[in-house]
Amino acid sequence: MIGIMPIHGTWQEVLAALLACVVAFDARLISIYIRGIIRNKTDRGGRNYGLHEYVGLIHLHSEYSGDAQGSYEELARVASEHKLEFMIITDHNNTKAIKDGKQGIYGKTLVLTGVESSRQEGYLLGLGIGDYQTARADPTEIFLSEVAAQRGFVVMAHARNSHWPWKGQVDARMTGVEIIDFADQIYDASLASKIMAALAFPVNRLYAFLSLYHRPDAVIELWDAISAQRPFVGIFASDIHQNLKIFKRRYKFPKAKDLMPFALNHLICARAPSGDFQTDRETVHTAIRCGHLFMAVDLLGDARGFMFSAQQDSGHGIMGDVLKAGEKTLFSVALPEIESRREIRIHVYRDGKKIITKPARSFEFQGGSSGSYRVEVVVDVPTVWGFGREVTWIFSNPIYLF
Ligand SMILES: [Zn+2]
Repeated sequence: MIGIMPIHGTWQEVLAALLACVVAFDARLISIYIRGIIRNKTDRGGRNYGLHEYVGLIHLHSEYSGDAQGSYEELARVASEHKLEFMIITDHNNTKAIKDGKQGIYGKTLVLTGVESSRQEGYLLGLGIGDYQTARADPTEIFLSEVAAQRGFVVMAHARNSHWPWKGQVDARMTGVEIIDFADQIYDASLASKIMAALAFPVNRLYAFLSLYHRPDAVIELWDAISAQRPFVGIFASDIHQNLKIFKRRYKFPKAKDLMPFALNHLICARAPSGDFQTDRETVHTAIRCGHLFMAVDLLGDARGFMFSAQQDSGHGIMGDVLKAGEKTLFSVALPEIESRREIRIHVYRDGKKIITKPARSFEFQGGSSGSYRVEVVVDVPTVWGFGREVTWIFSNPIYLF
């Protein structure tokens, strides 16, 4: 009954008490270490069966979007600083950057152009394309055909955003869906999380981002439902705009340099970057299209070296692969060599249903019945109130038994 409790003391004492609360709150926020919760001791590149792990971002905006700031050169410089190996910039409804010769290898970062197409039903990404002609008013069929004719592929963006979810059909030509879109994470976070993020931002930026991060249940449900029928790729989308508008003034906020390290797509590729633009472009697009990837909130710990694979008498597969249903299958989950004082748990899902939860760094399980199998690696992160909260560190793509 704080409202009716009489306040004793002078106004100076009340002010001092308030200040003490603020200082204690800030001190607690500053003391929460996010980077370093999980320390990866694996050498870069991991041990992945001779495969190469290629890390980077999909779905960013540059100044070729009316609502974004930052040139290709600037984004590429920041990406290089964060050691990203690839980045796919998807500006709104145009691929002018391709004509302007902006794609290329900047330092060690491969920079590619796709498109984010505004449809009447919602938003779609077109990747692996060389051109974009679809008009805003055209039916989605035109866009899907245009991408298919260029042997590109389509990923659903913002599919379950609370303001602009995808309202159309999920066409067979759609290859996958954004599981975590950082813009959706901000829009759809609870009010309490937004307040916490705003309070934390000045003193602990990483904690602020983590406050907004939540498991996007609705989009995962959609992913699982489609994956139970056919391969359907999940990706992480950073959706960086660097554009905050307040009373007609634009601010470069939140900055790419702060957002880029939050989470990454880890592609598992047959070959290492060759330095040849066309070859590396093909390598990256093929890995995404095949779902040979996992998403990780690398802010919590570098996830390089993770692997989810399966073995049958007749063959072997990794995330994204389809193996034979009905055959004895040994699935294997392996985390990189890590150090963490917190318990790491692995959840295994089959067609969206959790079938195993195990505190482990690696383990094997048997399967065989038809369905899509994927794993989430979770960890409890600290909260201001000290209780901890479970968040997903790694989302694998499924291995399918069909
Ligand atoms: Zn976007």
